[in-house]
Amino acid sequence: MVRELDVECREVGLRDGIQIVKTFVPTQEKIRWIREEVAAGMPNMQVCSFVPPKLLPQFSDAIDVAKAALEQDGLWVSALTPNLRGAETALAVGVHEIDFMNSVSETHSQSNGRRSTAQALAEFKRVVALRDSLPEGKRFKLAGGFATSFGCSFEGHVPHKNVLKSVENFVKAGVDEVVIADTVGYGNPRDVKSLFKKVIDNFGDDVMVGAHFHDTRGLGLANVYAALEAGCRRFDASLAGLGGCPFAPNATGNIVMEDLVFLLEGAGLHTGIDVDKLLPIRDIITDNLPDEPLHGTYAKAGAPKGFPWASTNSTQE
Ligand code: ZN
Repeated sequence: MVRELDVECREVGLRDGIQIVKTFVPTQEKIRWIREEVAAGMPNMQVCSFVPPKLLPQFSDAIDVAKAALEQDGLWVSALTPNLRGAETALAVGVHEIDFMNSVSETHSQSNGRRSTAQALAEFKRVVALRDSLPEGKRFKLAGGFATSFGCSFEGHVPHKNVLKSVENFVKAGVDEVVIADTVGYGNPRDVKSLFKKVIDNFGDDVMVGAHFHDTRGLGLANVYAALEAGCRRFDASLAGLGGCPFAPNATGNIVMEDLVFLLEGAGLHTGIDVDKLLPIRDIITDNLPDEPLHGTYAKAGAPKGFPWASTNSTQE
């Protein structure tokens, strides 16, 4: 019997990680990445973005990558899209979850998505209608991603009440899950704990609440722990911390999956992931994106002697 996970990690390297990388990662290499992470126990991967290839050529093979991901036993497959057209493609492919991006910050929404937050909400409602047009049992799960929840390079600190208002709008519209994202690494543990508590207190009965942190200023994992303490049990990260943000110059991107798993396992939480099986997968990044730095300290130091893994681990006796 498969033991239920205490906490769910989601690999976002194939979407968030490669989004702003100019070198195209060959389709077969993306699929190899998916296969090997599934073999390491990864339960959930955001495998692509459904956007016009002209805009982001890195995702021109999104349909093939998503189809291959769906062939992996037990993997929850999610894909990001900013609009109804992308959602229709995602539906045709049959992904389990569609992640609809939007920004809390009005300025970021305009710069990143070329639309107001109100226009984004209106588009989201069209995706909800698409989901609800399907028979029950055939519907995809619909998540809302809230970029710039802790701050924005243009506007600075983003007030909690703005995040709560955005989340409320999406919950009222019919979102199944919300992902609170620190797009440019402005969050600190105190702020994170406070906001996650508010989001979970207000909406936790209706929707699942996930976290997407960046390690831009070195607080990524501390923020994970703060969100954990507030009750969050779902975390995004990318292998070797691949990825950045075009609006945060010189920024380190996503938190490192290997370090995240080590943190969670050390907290006694069963992730289902064998972190030592993740390490060789870093070679896929080295082989295909030799200019991208590999982040993470677990990969350098390995496990402490006798470490009490919550999940089965290949370094255990
Ligand atoms: Zn990210």
